[in-house]
Amino acid sequence: MVSCIFCNIINGTIPSEKVYEDEHVYAFMDITPVAKGHLLLIPKVHRENVYDMMEDEAANLFRAVPKIANALKAEFQPAGMNLLQNNGSHAGQTVYHFHLHFIPRYDEKDGFD
Ligand code: 5GP
Ligand code: ZN
Repeated sequence: MVSCIFCNIINGTIPSEKVYEDEHVYAFMDITPVAKGHLLLIPKVHRENVYDMMEDEAANLFRAVPKIANALKAEFQPAGMNLLQNNGSHAGQTVYHFHLHFIPRYDEKDGFD
């Protein structure tokens, strides 16, 4: 097992609920969702945060964004959606492998029953 939680999710050592995968990226449900459908999109290459991303890595990651957002919208029918990404502890980053949050928003609370 390597030390990074998300690298271990990618290599299958830590289980996750996969929602999308291609050659460059992996998307999975957040273990402590702040709203129904909250998921994370990560590059398969280990990069701590946005400062370490190569331009082509960022492009490969964002190429997957519209299809994931549209699939999430179709499945959960949220009223809106935030894409959010934290860099550094002062910005709220707790896992040091780049990740983009997809957070569906609902008319009522967090969408949970
Ligand atoms: P950050 O605060 O770094 O932007 O977000 C880290 C996110 O990773 C949090 O929303 C947290 O719930 C999620 N997370 C941390 N560990 C795991 C895990 O082992 N599995 C999954 N699916 N999500 C995790
Ligand atoms: Zn990693």
